[in-house]
Amino acid sequence: MTSTIGNSAETAETDSEATDLGAIRLDAVILGAGVAGLYQLHQLRTQGLQVLAIDSASDVGGTWFWNRYPGARFDSEAYIYQYLFDEDLYRGWNWSEKFPGQPEIEQWMHYIADRLDLRKDILFDTTITSAHFDEQRDRWTIRTDSGQVFDAQFFVSCAGMLSAPMDQVFEGQETFRGQLVHTSRWPATGLDVTGKRVGVVGVGATGIQVIQTIADQVDHLTVFARTPQYVLPMKSPAYGPAEQEAYKARFAELSTTLPHTFTGFEYDFVHTWADCTPERRREILEEIYADGSLKLWLAGFAEMFFDPRVSEEISEFVREKMRARLQDPRLIDILVPTEYGFGTHRVPLERGYLEVYHRDNVELVGVRANPITRIVPEGIELADGTVHELDIIVMATGFDAGTGSLTRIDIRGRDGRRLADDWGRDIRSTMGLQVHGYPNLLTTAIPLAPSAALCNMATCLQQQTEWISDVIAHVRAQGGSTIEPTAAGEQAWVDHHEETVSANLISKTSGWYLGSNVPGKPRRVLSYTGGVGTYRARCDDEAAAGYPNFLIK
Ligand SMILES: Cc1cc2nc3c(=O)[nH]c(=O)nc-3n(C[C@H](O)[C@H](O)[C@H](O)COP(=O)(O)OP(=O)(O)OC[C@H]3O[C@@H](n4cnc5c(N)ncnc54)[C@H](O)[C@@H]3O)c2cc1C
Repeated sequence: MTSTIGNSAETAETDSEATDLGAIRLDAVILGAGVAGLYQLHQLRTQGLQVLAIDSASDVGGTWFWNRYPGARFDSEAYIYQYLFDEDLYRGWNWSEKFPGQPEIEQWMHYIADRLDLRKDILFDTTITSAHFDEQRDRWTIRTDSGQVFDAQFFVSCAGMLSAPMDQVFEGQETFRGQLVHTSRWPATGLDVTGKRVGVVGVGATGIQVIQTIADQVDHLTVFARTPQYVLPMKSPAYGPAEQEAYKARFAELSTTLPHTFTGFEYDFVHTWADCTPERRREILEEIYADGSLKLWLAGFAEMFFDPRVSEEISEFVREKMRARLQDPRLIDILVPTEYGFGTHRVPLERGYLEVYHRDNVELVGVRANPITRIVPEGIELADGTVHELDIIVMATGFDAGTGSLTRIDIRGRDGRRLADDWGRDIRSTMGLQVHGYPNLLTTAIPLAPSAALCNMATCLQQQTEWISDVIAHVRAQGGSTIEPTAAGEQAWVDHHEETVSANLISKTSGWYLGSNVPGKPRRVLSYTGGVGTYRARCDDEAAAGYPNFLIK
């Protein structure tokens, strides 16, 4: 087979299953062309590797390609959700506001791809269906849905933590007579909700953005709410040339500080609850609440994550704010959380969301006691037999986070072991960068590394891809053919992760942070909670010590 793909791919020459299939031989295949995949591609190409990125999407962007639903926008400040390896690249893009919407973020990703000339080494509209490690040759055989076969020494996953949609949730979805759409598969050509009866299932971060955006366009909006969320009001001031110059002038400072804060955001935990009087605590809470960002969550009082009394006081502060806006006891009952502490679930930012429920055309249906049982041709049916008739159903039902994008692929490592089986028993990894039993599979955004939204992902993904590039360079410089974490090294990381999370109140809750939105998924806090700076230091130490928890051969 002659390759027309990638910068300099060749046909495999050695005797193998891959050769028989006419596989295209590469040094590395990268899965995904989002924030991680683009930078990984740039780095490996700079090292001189023959490398190709593959994405199911028809252009770059990952999350920002797929999530086109109305109201999709950043919860990270735009000027920190950035690549920081090149000041010219940083300075070359002008954000129009503090928390821009999806169209602008997608344009920024196009800007990155254009500036780094990445598209020529990306295969779009192509899904990787299987990846098998060939132990005789120490190489991966990677197959796609269009029948191509790639033979690569390294298989680098940049598949995303939130890219496997939970879109098959209810019995009878296929019977619905109207349009049913998952938020992350919103049609690129748009979906006209004007004058329609629309149902939104889910009130997480995404549901909230959709609801507050479409409420005044639809004829009637029915919101199906199961798990209430603590919400924080967003302030997104517009940026003109002066504001743009001001954040650009901070490039050196941000490059130095962001990688080392607790969450990869510009702010950090600076207050100590125990050191403050009740009046001072209140003052601080009011001040950071008024910031209109995630500060109350990620730069308030760290004790909130560990001390149930502090958690309760801060939770009550947020509840008070929500109750004051909702007023109606029925709305308060359905929408204000009481069963878990503020910050132990993903905290959404919103703009006028709670006020939406005061509109005449908006109906709130609590589905905790009276759950959705199935989708019927007319709409959504609840356990008590009520049917809500709808023209459009928006599934804001989230993702199979962390593991779903890889377990949906047939990935087989040493001894034919399947990743879906391994993770179906126990979700494990070594620093989120490799999994024991899968040599030369290098991973970003998988469990046991810091991840959304306990991390500003641009910060974390840069660090992870840089670590991967360095380790690949190291293996090649040593003349090695494989790298794999040792069983003991992996166990040590899992133990460290568990020790860290067990002190954190997040581990006492349920929700997608623990995989409990996916039936049968083993329970584990998916994100590393020891802090982005600490995590980075441990990764750096591992490299500096010559990768003692990995076997290179
Ligand atoms: C609605 C939404 C809002 C968010 N907002 C923020 C925010 O404000 N701040 C923040 O830090 N993070 C946010 N996140 C998290 C976000 O996912 C990350 O910030 C980041 O974009 C992830 O980049 P990535 O490259 O790791 O993965 P992704 O962007 O998810 O890209 C992965 C790519 O892999 C491709 N892929 C997966 N499987 C296959 C396969 N088998 N074959 C081929 N291609 C495949 C997908 O098509 C996708 O394009 C948000 C996430 C969502 C869903």
